[in-house]
Amino acid sequence: MVDFSLHRGIEAPTGPELHCKGWGQEAALRMLMNNLDARVGENPAERIVYGGRGRAARSWPAYDKIIDSLLTLENDQTLLIQSGKPVGIFQTQPGSPRVLIANSNLVGKWATLEEFDRLEKKGLTMFGQMTAGSWIYIGSQGVIQGTFETLAALAAKHFDGTLRHRLYVSAGLGGMGGAQPLSAKMLEGVALIADVDSRRIQKRRDSGYLDMAQESIAEAVRIALEAKHDGRSLSIGVHCHANDLLEYLVTNRIIPDVLSDQTAAHDPLVGYIPDGLDIEEADALRRADPSEYLKRARQSIARHVRNLLALQQAGAQTFDYGNNIRREAFDQGVHEAFEIPGYVPAYIRDLFNQGKGPFRWAVLSGKPEEIYKLDELALEMFGDNPLLRRWFTLARQYIHFQGLPARIAYMGLGERDAFAVKVNEWVHTGMLSAPVVFGRDHHDTGSVASPYRETERMLDGSDAIADWPILNALLNVASGAHWVSFHHGGGTGIGYSLHAGTVVVADGSDDSAGRLSRVFFNDPGIGVIRHADAGYSLAETTMKTHSDRMKAPFVGPDSNIPL
Ligand code: NAD
Repeated sequence: MVDFSLHRGIEAPTGPELHCKGWGQEAALRMLMNNLDARVGENPAERIVYGGRGRAARSWPAYDKIIDSLLTLENDQTLLIQSGKPVGIFQTQPGSPRVLIANSNLVGKWATLEEFDRLEKKGLTMFGQMTAGSWIYIGSQGVIQGTFETLAALAAKHFDGTLRHRLYVSAGLGGMGGAQPLSAKMLEGVALIADVDSRRIQKRRDSGYLDMAQESIAEAVRIALEAKHDGRSLSIGVHCHANDLLEYLVTNRIIPDVLSDQTAAHDPLVGYIPDGLDIEEADALRRADPSEYLKRARQSIARHVRNLLALQQAGAQTFDYGNNIRREAFDQGVHEAFEIPGYVPAYIRDLFNQGKGPFRWAVLSGKPEEIYKLDELALEMFGDNPLLRRWFTLARQYIHFQGLPARIAYMGLGERDAFAVKVNEWVHTGMLSAPVVFGRDHHDTGSVASPYRETERMLDGSDAIADWPILNALLNVASGAHWVSFHHGGGTGIGYSLHAGTVVVADGSDDSAGRLSRVFFNDPGIGVIRHADAGYSLAETTMKTHSDRMKAPFVGPDSNIPL
C-alpha cells in the first residue's frame, strides 16, 4: 500500500500497478513524487527541487490536493495547476493533456524579483524553475550531458579534445552545478569546485558525482595541481565561498585552464550566499532583513565577476554557464561583465540547430536494468551518431541513478520520436515491465526565450522574442502531450526568461504511440524552424531533411520585412 499522505520520505511507487485511472495521470503523480524524493530533490522538506527555490508544489496542502486530483482524474478530464496549486478540473477529451501547468508567470512590467517575492510571500505564486514545477527533474543527470557537451566543445576548440592535464574551476555544487565535477572528469580533467554548503558537497559525494571534499583551500588547490600535473582525472569539492577560492588563485597566480560558475546567482535572495556569511547566518539575515541580504549578495556577485574577469584576462578560458551572474554584476557597475561569453552561442547552438537538446526518459518500473536495455536500443538505433555513441558509453560507466532510474540524451529531430515510439512497442510487447516517461528540460531548441542564455546573440537579434516558447507549448497541447507547462524565470531568473515543458508517457497503447510520434517530432521541429527563421543555415538544412513531416511557409531573414 502506498501512503500518499506522507510529506517526508516521499518515494514514487514503481511497477505496473495503476493507482490512477490512466497512465497519463499516474506518470504525472509518480514524476511529481520523484521530484520530491530526498535522493533526487535538493530540499524536499520545503518542496524545493533545484535551482535556488525551484519548487514542485506551492504548499503541502496544495501538494495533497494535486495528489488527490490525479488519483481521481478521469481519462477525458484535464487538471489545471497555477503556480504549484491545483485550481481546476475540466471536461476535455481522451486525446487531450491530463495536466496543464503555468508557473511563476507575471505581466512584463511587473516581472521583477522584488514583485515576485512580494507575491510569493502572500502565497499567490511559486517559482517553478524549469523541470521542478513541471515534474520532469531527474537529479543532476538532467544537466550532465549539457555540461559534458559544453566542456567537450570547449576542449575541442582550445585543448585537442580532452581536459587531461587541465584544471576546471567553478563554484556551486547544487542540483545542476553538481554535474560539473563529473563532466570534467568524464573528459579526463581535474575539477575544483567551491560550495559554501557542506551538505551539498556531501550530497554530490553520496550520489557519485564528486570524488573528495576538502575544508582547506590551500590543500584542495595543492591536490588539484598535483592531479593536473600527473594527468589524473579527479574532482574536489572545497567548502568555501566562491570569492575565497578565486581570490586565493588570483593572489597565488594560479590560472585555471577553464573557469565558470554555477551558484544560483539568478536568484540573489535565495541562491547566492553573500561573502562572510555561513548558511545559518545567511538564513537568519534573509528572514530578518531581505533588502540588506540582497544588497550584500549583489555586492558579492559583483566581486565574484571581477574575480572571474581577472582570471580570464590572465588566460583562463572563462564562460557563463546560464545563471545570469553577468547581468547581476553588470547592474552593480561591472560593465565588462559581458566580456565573459555565454555558453550557448559559444558551444551549444549548433546542437539546437539540429533539434538536439536534453531529451530524457525515466522507467516507471524502477528497475535500473531497464535503462541499460534502453541504452542498448539507443546504440542499436543511433550507433552511427558519434555524439550519442560517446555519450551512452560514458553514461553507463559514470552515472549513478537518483530516484526513478532515468537517462538523458541529446537526441535530435527525427531521433527522439523514433526512439520513443520503439520503446512504446517494447512496453506493449512486455520487453519492459512498466511504462516509460519521456520529456525534456525547458532548456531546449524551441521551448525557451532567454536572452542571457538559450537565445543569447541570435543571428537576427530576436533574443527576447517570446512568441516561440508560447507556440511550442500550444503545439505540444495540440499534439497530445500528457502534460504541458509554461513558466517564467527559469535558469536566468525572474524577468529574464519564458519557457515551456512537455511530457508523454509510453504505456504501450496506440494512443501513446500517436502522442509520442507527434509530440517528439513537432517539439524539436519548432526549435529547428525558430533557428532557421533566425538565419542559421544548419537549421535550414535540418528543416529541409525533414520536409516530409513539417512545412515552413515563410521563415528566414528575407521573410522579416521592416515596417
Ligand atoms: P542550487 O540552488 O541547487 O545550488 C546552488 C549552489 O550554489 C548551492 O549548493 C549553494 O550552496 C551554492 N552557493 C551559493 N552561493 C555561493 C557562494 N557565494 N559560494 C559558493 N557556493 C555558493 O542551483 P542549481 O540547480 O545547481 O543551479 C545553479 C545555477 O545554474 C542556477 O542559476 C540555475 O538556474 C542555473 N542552471 C543552469 C543550467 C545549464 O544548463 N547551464 C541548467 C539548470 C540550471
